[in-house]
Amino acid sequence: MRLSAVPRLLPIAAGLLAALTLAACSAPAEPESAAADAAASADNAADSATAATPEGPLVIYSERKPPLLDPVLAAYTAETGVQIETRIDGADALIERLAAEGASTPADLLITVDAGNLWQAAERNLLAPVVSPALEANVPANLRDAQGRWFGLSERARTIMYAKDRVDPATLSTYEALAEPQWKGKLCLRSSAKVYNQSLVATMIERLGADATREVLKGWVANLAAPPFADDTLLLQAIAAGQCEVGITNTYYLGRLVKEDAAFAVAPFWPNQADAGVHVNISGAGVVAASDRPEQAQALLEWLASDTVQAKFAGLNFEYPVKPGMALDPIVSAWGEFKADPVDIAVAGRRQAEAVMLMNEAGWR
Ligand code: FE
Repeated sequence: MRLSAVPRLLPIAAGLLAALTLAACSAPAEPESAAADAAASADNAADSATAATPEGPLVIYSERKPPLLDPVLAAYTAETGVQIETRIDGADALIERLAAEGASTPADLLITVDAGNLWQAAERNLLAPVVSPALEANVPANLRDAQGRWFGLSERARTIMYAKDRVDPATLSTYEALAEPQWKGKLCLRSSAKVYNQSLVATMIERLGADATREVLKGWVANLAAPPFADDTLLLQAIAAGQCEVGITNTYYLGRLVKEDAAFAVAPFWPNQADAGVHVNISGAGVVAASDRPEQAQALLEWLASDTVQAKFAGLNFEYPVKPGMALDPIVSAWGEFKADPVDIAVAGRRQAEAVMLMNEAGWR
């Protein structure tokens, strides 16, 4: 509730800015020497493009797709009057674009759907450190950067999925146990090229060590019922269709399928409840280091992390708010509560290269 004061101040701030700019634009030109003019234009050359449109919209570079983002952004514009533009692309492409554009980037905020990519952007000095009691209060410490360069906005559980009609959940226990011979010819996985799997494996390396993780991955590959799938939805449909009995996917893909068909024959199982907990990743955001309006970008980020907004942001895609105790979509709450792995999710970035190497060694395509 206390956070709602932040966006409500914004229209006033924006109005003041607009008035000041108008005053500056309409003021009679001061007589200036040619030398001073030249110096000023040289100073401003680097950011002349942005300086020319100081009242333009906030620009978000987003890997999160429009249907999962636009409704909350529209609410922000309605509440504050701040216009927002989004440029949608894959995280790798957006990060390369930020690096190439440097100081002249139009971007103010970067949103990705994985912590590993936010970590990469921060490593490349593309995100600004933000100090914000509001963000620190609403985003658990393990789901944000210690230096404030990125913050989780929604939590995504990547868990074991099973065929309700063919698998007794009492036979399931941990991610690692899916490497046991009882699952031979019964397991389905998504491609190792997907960052979601790389992040899962990165946290396993952190927890189990490289050697033990490599053995688990080899066991998984030995148990595959089919070549790795291109996406989580195809994998879940393969479980429902009888091609495999168990798999590992993000829960929101199941949420979408259950919304279409309440009788969809796949259910989530929460593994590792006696130890590490379920692997969770984030969809999150950071203020772009070269933003020419970092205060506005931070205000939007704080608003996105506020109680009701993060619940809506997560609810658009059957995800979990990062702050415990928030309202959940009924489809999501029906899956029950689980213990999440409390590991610092920055490990998804720090150990990503190592994870990719182990997946290759295990023959996980
Ligand atoms: Fe996804």
